[in-house]
Amino acid sequence: MGQVVVISTGGTIASRWQGSGFAADARGGDVLATAAVPDGVTVRVVDLMSVNSARLTTRDQLALLRTVHEVLADPAVDGIVVTHGTDTLEESAFLLDLHHHDPRPVVLTGAQLPLEAPDGDGPRNLHDALLAASSAALRGHGVLVAFDGQVHAARGTIKVQTLAADAFADPSGSPVADVKDGRLLVRRRPDRPQPLPLPAAGTPLPRVDIVTHHCDADPLLLNAAVDAGARGVVLVATGAGNATPEVVAAVEAAVARGVLVALTTRVPAGPVAEIYTHGGAVDLAAAGAVLTGTLRAGQARIAVLAAALAHPTGDTDDRTHALRRALGAPAA
Ligand code: ASP
Repeated sequence: MGQVVVISTGGTIASRWQGSGFAADARGGDVLATAAVPDGVTVRVVDLMSVNSARLTTRDQLALLRTVHEVLADPAVDGIVVTHGTDTLEESAFLLDLHHHDPRPVVLTGAQLPLEAPDGDGPRNLHDALLAASSAALRGHGVLVAFDGQVHAARGTIKVQTLAADAFADPSGSPVADVKDGRLLVRRRPDRPQPLPLPAAGTPLPRVDIVTHHCDADPLLLNAAVDAGARGVVLVATGAGNATPEVVAAVEAAVARGVLVALTTRVPAGPVAEIYTHGGAVDLAAAGAVLTGTLRAGQARIAVLAAALAHPTGDTDDRTHALRRALGAPAA
């Protein structure tokens, strides 16, 4: 038990009625005031921003990353809670996790119901996040997501419900811990590859796009992303990672232009795998696409972004190596 810093970024947990709909506008102190603070925990609030998370930019996410590292420079801090909109929480959580090289927990949370909702889920989620962030049992577990009585590893965890309280899960894995009757029950320690160094200040921010394959799709949108200057493209393929011979040709051309192409799937759970040819993952991998295991589109994009930020200029091989490192895959 000890000192936790809450970094407030907005989201539904900080949202109030604006006359036509809800939007984030509350400060971190107002959000904190709704929650019971676990015994023995002291809290300091850092107000970073108050926005709905669908509006976040790479610049915002890097500001959050730097703030986390600045806060952790203080050895008196035992852990961090980030309050965040649920819509893109999985993306920010994964970016933080990729660069987290500190045993102290960083725990993201939010809410499905707004700040002033009677029986809202924000107070409980924030309490549980404070408990997790101050827990010695979660040291060395990386960046975590506390939501609806469970604590998940950042890597692999996605938003799985648009409205229901159990908004987050790893469809290919299992929770790291449960919170029951105010107590934390730790179940497992997530596997995490070596963290990446922080991107250098002033690094140009690369464009990274996501393109989804479907019946009757052609390579037009993938090519448009490349023509728009994308340094990376995530191809959300069908099944275990399949598209068409035409998409394979477009991937090959993109890779030849130095674009990092990552392959994930529309299917909720399971890894992408090299099984099929005639446009399948066998051919996409041969064309230079990097398979992203069980990461889904938003987190695959963050892995590509981190790789592009690590090597803003120079060789494609360096970026591919950084992407494989972010994926925890062998460097080959
Ligand atoms: N639209 C909100 C956001 O992501 C949703 C939420 O926080 O639950 O900011």
